[in-house]
Amino acid sequence: MTDCIFCKIAKKEIPAEVAFENDDLIAFNDRNPLAPVHILIIPKRHIASINDFGMADVELVGQMILVGKNIAEDLSISEKGYKLLFRVGEWGGQEVPHIHLHLIGGARLYEDIYPL
Ligand code: 5GP
Ligand code: ZN
Repeated sequence: MTDCIFCKIAKKEIPAEVAFENDDLIAFNDRNPLAPVHILIIPKRHIASINDFGMADVELVGQMILVGKNIAEDLSISEKGYKLLFRVGEWGGQEVPHIHLHLIGGARLYEDIYPL
């Protein structure tokens, strides 16, 4: 999608700090981190939101979760724990209409200072 910020990040037209990449997915640091670790995992192919998620995307979205888990392990935050979060649509607080999985961790996320 030409006007999509995250499609542009996937195509390297907008810079981002990349944590992981393969043919299907790219993971990069959130520009406005809510916790010490805040990474967004996105498919390179444009899917607007979980509302548009269908059977054809099951493997791709499964891969996103696996990549989140692997990055958490690499960053040594697995044992203490972290959050994997999809915001969906306006009331879910989704601002960027290209599906993304937030990996958020490195702190106790159930304290009031992390209203996620
Ligand atoms: P949402 O609210 O849609 O679930 O999350 C969108 C996230 O994308 C926000 O946490 C926001 O900080 C991040 N974000 C938006 N635009 C950019 C960008 O151009 N670069 C990076 N690295 N993060 C972005
Ligand atoms: Zn897009």
